[in-house]
Amino acid sequence: MKCIEAQQLIKPYLKKELSDRELERFLDHVENCPECYDELEIYFVIYEALEDSGEEREADRYNFKEKLRQDIKNSRRYLHLRKAYRLFRYAAILAAEIVLLMAVITGAEMLGEEGSRGTTVYRIMYGEQESETETEKETQAVIRPVLDSAKGQETQTKKTGE
Ligand SMILES: [Zn+2]
Repeated sequence: MKCIEAQQLIKPYLKKELSDRELERFLDHVENCPECYDELEIYFVIYEALEDSGEEREADRYNFKEKLRQDIKNSRRYLHLRKAYRLFRYAAILAAEIVLLMAVITGAEMLGEEGSRGTTVYRIMYGEQESETETEKETQAVIRPVLDSAKGQETQTKKTGE
């Protein structure tokens, strides 16, 4: 990220309007660029002063440097938690998929043991090619009438043609 880009993100940062990605890149920059950090500090003081109701103690008011450090630390923490959450969610989805896959494999093996190796899953998994399987019978039961009616139409057309 360039300084000009980082400095454009200062206000959105203070308003907490940055996306996770923007926030990470912004923090990476300001933590390594003293110029932009100074710029951020100036804006931070202005924002703090605007937010300040005037009831705060003087000591707090001038402790903005520490406040900004805390703010950046909190932002880092927030990003860290968001990443951990995404990772956790990803792991959970992956685990669910593995469980599902295991169930399919176990199911296919159980069917195989029972002697009916005609399930589509089983054939995909083991590449078994048996001619007279339940699935093929079912498929033919669906396809045959369609084929027959097509043939019937063909003969009808021939008849009318004659
Ligand atoms: Zn910079």
